[in-house]
Amino acid sequence: MAGIDTLPPLREVIATHGLSAKKALGQNFLLDLNLTAKIARLAGDMSGCDVLEIGPGPGGLTRGLLAEGARRVLAIEKDARCLPALSEIAAAYPGRLEVVNGDALEVDPLAHLTPPIRIAANLPYNVGTELLVRWLTPDAWPPFWDSLTLMFQKEVAERIVAAPGSKAYGRLALLAQWRAEAEIVLTLPPEAFTPPPKVSSAVVHLTALPEPRYPADPKVLERVVAMAFNQRRKMLRAALRGLAPDIQDRLEASGIKPTDRAETVSLEQFCALARNIAAV
Ligand code: SAM
Repeated sequence: MAGIDTLPPLREVIATHGLSAKKALGQNFLLDLNLTAKIARLAGDMSGCDVLEIGPGPGGLTRGLLAEGARRVLAIEKDARCLPALSEIAAAYPGRLEVVNGDALEVDPLAHLTPPIRIAANLPYNVGTELLVRWLTPDAWPPFWDSLTLMFQKEVAERIVAAPGSKAYGRLALLAQWRAEAEIVLTLPPEAFTPPPKVSSAVVHLTALPEPRYPADPKVLERVVAMAFNQRRKMLRAALRGLAPDIQDRLEASGIKPTDRAETVSLEQFCALARNIAAV
């Protein structure tokens, strides 16, 4: 017996159940159980948590999460071909794995989970950013999750953790860092996956802050940031002209030079501007 549990090796699972990877579903599988256990550990102590996994596929990360002690795992998988392999895992960990065959964009995980909740996933690249944005923009804060441990294409991971002044800095960095602590905790080359994708990948760990880092109305902040970065090469006094006729004064009152460009403005400054605009 090798690996982290008594189940068959993942290559065998894939052969037995005919799980040839489908590009349209973003299927790049992790078959090394030592690696999936390592990723599971990056999610932190899961012994007292329910874990939401999106896209378990043949179940490599699922097995890691269960072997590393997750209280319960809810795995949402769109591809019905994966269900028999996932049933074998559920049988090996009685009462701890629930699999829902569906689209993660449509299933309500809260109908299945009990807090505290962590989210861990090797995300399908085509819906990864959309899911992250949803998790970061709930109607009320704090959100239903305590932490997110998510594999993205490396370029997306860099946009999440980017600092002002860098090319990757923009809406995603501001959205993530306003209400969470975000860090790249692992980088993986294409060869870590089967089949290998074209680019490297990275795991980002995000911890929800109890409250936003600086006060601001979420809708106003989102609007200001979207306008600023829609024309990221323009000076802010031009890019944000539509927000208020006296935008120049409002920028200055928020500690921002009207001639600055969006990519040099800090999160704190964007929040100050959002408060100023909200007070119109
Ligand atoms: N977790 C597995 C691993 O690490 O080997 C598979 C990861 S693979 C990158 C992404 C998985 O997400 C695939 O199994 C795919 O079928 C599934 N998937 C794609 N779109 C989905 C969606 N909208 N909802 C749920 N699962 C989806």
